[in-house]
Amino acid sequence: MNNTNKKIILIDQDDVLANYHARFLEIWKNEHPEKVWVSLADSAEYDVDKNYPPEYRDLIEEITVRKGFFGSLSPISGAKEALETMLVLGHDVRIVTAPKRKHTFCVPEKFAWIEKHLGQKFVERIVLTRDKTLVHGDILIDDKPNVPGVCTPSWEQVFYDQPYNRRYNNRRLTWANYQEVLGL
Ligand SMILES: [Mg+2]
Repeated sequence: MNNTNKKIILIDQDDVLANYHARFLEIWKNEHPEKVWVSLADSAEYDVDKNYPPEYRDLIEEITVRKGFFGSLSPISGAKEALETMLVLGHDVRIVTAPKRKHTFCVPEKFAWIEKHLGQKFVERIVLTRDKTLVHGDILIDDKPNVPGVCTPSWEQVFYDQPYNRRYNNRRLTWANYQEVLGL
């Protein structure tokens, strides 16, 4: 590969590398078996709580900011192999992740998760920011519609395919087809 094809590829963490929605749902069903639950496939909204009645907002938030939540997420199949392959192909891969405002457990557990599941070399590739438009890159792989920020992004967002982003028109990929979609 020549340098003109070398890309800076920014990759989101939650529901791109780590199964956030699925872990939330597992805990929710276990702790609140009497309450309504929404499968990932039926989730029309990116924010978990927006798929639920508003009175559950605080209960839902408590699960996602509690000690141990981020550390307990399972890896999305194929993610590690994809990141390793991108590096081998000569691309610059960065994990760009937004911490929760209630950051006490989220931030250290996100770092520990990356070390455990992806390895130390990817810890060194973390960019922690609540404004991803400030980060320069060619591609942002993110499941979130309408990534907010103060800048016009330098990157093109390609969705990591999830049920709640399918009504938007961006290009989309999974770890099964990313090389074809991105032309890597
Ligand atoms: Mg995400």
